[in-house]
Amino acid sequence: MEKLPDPVQYAIPAFVALIIIEMIWAKRRAPDKYEPKDTLNSLLFGFGSTVAGVLFGGIMIGVAYSAYAIRPITIPWTWWAWGLCFILDDLAYYVFHRAAHRVRWFWASHVNHHSSQHYNLSTALRQTWTGFFAAGFIFRLPLAFIGFHPAMLLFCGALNLIYQFWIHTEAIGRFPRWFEAVMNTPSHHRVHHAVNPRYLDRNYAGTFIVWDKMFGTFAPEVEGEPIRYGIVKQLGSFNLLWGVFHEWVGIVQDLWRAPFKAKFGYLFGPPGWSHDGSRDTSDMIRARWEHNRDG
Ligand SMILES: [Zn+2]
Ligand SMILES: [Zn+2]
Repeated sequence: MEKLPDPVQYAIPAFVALIIIEMIWAKRRAPDKYEPKDTLNSLLFGFGSTVAGVLFGGIMIGVAYSAYAIRPITIPWTWWAWGLCFILDDLAYYVFHRAAHRVRWFWASHVNHHSSQHYNLSTALRQTWTGFFAAGFIFRLPLAFIGFHPAMLLFCGALNLIYQFWIHTEAIGRFPRWFEAVMNTPSHHRVHHAVNPRYLDRNYAGTFIVWDKMFGTFAPEVEGEPIRYGIVKQLGSFNLLWGVFHEWVGIVQDLWRAPFKAKFGYLFGPPGWSHDGSRDTSDMIRARWEHNRDG
């Protein structure tokens, strides 16, 4: 019972098939949705991330087993535990994802997922290469510590990742209201990938959008506002290694130059934070936009 297959491996053929279908749709309806260099980069991000998983995944699993070893209770391998595991894992993902946008250390790894200026199914494959280094997995450790078996957690996390694939599309508008109210959808996740000031740092959900509504980070997609995708300061480059490491390079440069008291802020402050106010955080961009909107 402790050895489960990796569902992501089984989902890959479906990913490829759906990307091809979306490409055909885009060719007819919206030819600028796909840009060959961008798509190739996204595929290489996905491939590299898989390699990183093979290299470092074992260490992460080892840490999870260590946390599980000191559990106060053992959660059984039953149907309700699976349901609970999926829901709590999704909450842990929300917390991780929020930190990934609000703390530069985690952003340096997560930015990989956001650096495309396109939004299509291939964007979903843009996964980080440096997730292990950034140690984002610590957000899921508490679940192993309270007694969920690491194999169960791994499986639920994989299902969550698979769920998030299909929402990276502009081919689907909106679902019936009840579905949009509970689930993360293409509409909600387009907002998450947008750099329009009103959408910055919103909709961190993995599978259930309810977390954003509970914790005040939800923003609905507004009719008639064209979305700009990507990151606040666009990469403007298809150099793969620069794409993977640019924010880490930025951190090292800032740590080197900054006065001692500011170093902590450049590491763990929000992305865009600066000790002399020369850069913008997403909160500053939003505040300026709200100020202008309200006159
Ligand atoms: Zn994100
Ligand atoms: Zn995404």
